[in-house]
Amino acid sequence: MQARPFGHSAPIWTLLFATLALGITLGAHGDRIERLRAALLPSAWAAQHEGAPAPDAMPRGRTPAAIVDGVYPATYFPNTERLGADEMRITALGTGMPNQAKRAASIAYYVELGNGDKFIFDIGLGSMVNLFALRPDFSKIDKVFVSHLHVDHVGDFMGLHVGSWLSGRYTPIHVYGPSGSSPELGTKTFIDGMKMAFQWDIHSRTGALPDAGGQIEVHEFDFRQENEVVYRENGVTIRSWPAIHILDGSVTYSLEWNGLKYVFGGDTYPNKWYMKYAVGADVASHECFLPPKALAEYFGWDLNQATFVSTRVHTEPQAFAKVMATLKPRLAVGYHTVQSPENNAAIMDEVRKIYDGPLAVARDLMVINVTKEQIVVRMAVVDDYVLPPDVTEGYIKAPRIAPQNYPSKETMAGKWEGYTPPPMPKKGQ
Ligand SMILES: [Zn+2]
Ligand SMILES: [Zn+2]
Repeated sequence: MQARPFGHSAPIWTLLFATLALGITLGAHGDRIERLRAALLPSAWAAQHEGAPAPDAMPRGRTPAAIVDGVYPATYFPNTERLGADEMRITALGTGMPNQAKRAASIAYYVELGNGDKFIFDIGLGSMVNLFALRPDFSKIDKVFVSHLHVDHVGDFMGLHVGSWLSGRYTPIHVYGPSGSSPELGTKTFIDGMKMAFQWDIHSRTGALPDAGGQIEVHEFDFRQENEVVYRENGVTIRSWPAIHILDGSVTYSLEWNGLKYVFGGDTYPNKWYMKYAVGADVASHECFLPPKALAEYFGWDLNQATFVSTRVHTEPQAFAKVMATLKPRLAVGYHTVQSPENNAAIMDEVRKIYDGPLAVARDLMVINVTKEQIVVRMAVVDDYVLPPDVTEGYIKAPRIAPQNYPSKETMAGKWEGYTPPPMPKKGQ
């Protein structure tokens, strides 16, 4: 029962830009032993659990350790911490706008659970860079939930599909998303169109990569459904409800597992469904757009246009603040804005006029660890250049048909005679 030496026994309510680590008191002796046991390297774990796969394919070069007594390092270094069995970790992969910045990709969130399950919520443009920077076990990343079909929420879908197929995923990827007001505006049409558009790419890799990994399975559901189950497996329940955003077919999701609840807001004007179904959220995320004046200045728009976009199409900071002041989650997460120190300061000024509860204005690679006892918000530090993660035995052994596609004889006849490639080594060398 140790509090962090410089920590706090009560939550710190405000967080902006900074690392926040809450001290806590946690854990009987038994818990501690269990956590230490869980910290064993996969190889040691496998030796103790004969025949069973290691819980995670940890990349080489990093040694994961358990978090003991709820005291976290100030900075999150990917693959150095073993997620507790009862714990949820939410990583912001993208928190910005369609006009991306190096440090603000479009919207995406990565949720990892202590039972080993992993989920992606939205996969906006540019966000894949941050997912790859975490060097995850891609064999487990096969479920994507999209809030709506704006490019800043789905633009990196093919990057995820092909990138993860190349990096360890050997089963189909599953996409869950809403219908639209007509079939051509729904998620199924979007994915069918992606498959059609990327035929050349998929064909070119077929045979070299595991067959099943090239498949995409779509699960389209009615955008109008209210808090209905979209996904239920392995103790995890994901529900959706409608959002109000330009066209029909934008939704919000909640994920519930192990007594914890995470709400992923998507894009929406403040709405009655969110106020009803996000109740009880441990972490409630909701868009928190730039206020009209800051938006007008940033884009050079007139105040009329900026006010319409900020307060009619999206949720301005004061509206976000009202939502959270009413909802009172354990942590409110605001996101989806044009990020700069000035803009973030403008957002905070507006939010704090109304809401003084626990708050994080999300930035890319913000990491939120959630347990029943505490919520800890930190920033991840990642390498500028990352190797792909190690792949599993399952990936290596997964069936592959013989490659079917080569350039034609006519094209091959164009090889330059001035170069001869080295002889091919024997297979497996
Ligand atoms: Zn949108
Ligand atoms: Zn958006």
